[in-house]
Amino acid sequence: MEIEARLEDVLQRIAAVAEQADRKPGSVSLVAVSKTFEADAIQPVIDCGQRVFGENRVQEAQGKWPALKEKTEGIELHLIGPLQSNKSADAVALFDVIQSVDREKIARALADECQKQGRALRFYVQVNTGLEPQKAGIDPRETATFVTMCRDELKLTIEGLMCIPPADENPGPHFALLAKLAKECGVQKLSMGMSGDFETAVEFGATSVRVGSAIFGTR
Ligand SMILES: *Cc1c(COP(=O)(O)O)cnc(C)c1O
Repeated sequence: MEIEARLEDVLQRIAAVAEQADRKPGSVSLVAVSKTFEADAIQPVIDCGQRVFGENRVQEAQGKWPALKEKTEGIELHLIGPLQSNKSADAVALFDVIQSVDREKIARALADECQKQGRALRFYVQVNTGLEPQKAGIDPRETATFVTMCRDELKLTIEGLMCIPPADENPGPHFALLAKLAKECGVQKLSMGMSGDFETAVEFGATSVRVGSAIFGTR
């Protein structure tokens, strides 16, 4: 299948599950994850009308997105990978949404940079729903306190929560937990689901799914 056909297939599958789950067709947004792919693989996806993209490394994104953004209006770039505080200035300058806010130090660095650069980004708090030691994210039990601190003290626009369930587990309970936490925190958006499980995520209320290999091919 060509890249355009794979994009269309993913969009149709999202729309189909959304309908089955009695959700509005436009209520789930696709973040096309273009990490490791070069600009010439990304451009055809932009040409099909896709505008929201995800990258997991600041430096890699800096190498390809400024030129792609220049060519097309309305691109929205999401950082979905772990961020080091020494990269926060670059991240704030390039990205529109940062989905991987996972500790106080980085939240403070991002708040400082937004103020310095006069940029208004939107943010998600990443939650380590499986409490995996090697994985980034806030402990589910501390999520509400952390979100409150980010909003009230740091004035960050936290619009939702993000999670990456453990690779070897049924993702459903993790998606359900993220949805429950979002309600408790009073945030509207849920970023959950990747190529292997985005349909399940939509059933559990995802408002955006992050899909890479199902569109761009294996990495
Ligand atoms: C790479 C990545 C994805 C996309 O994964 P696929 O399985 O290729 O769809 C989604 N979310 C995060 C955080 C990623 O790093």
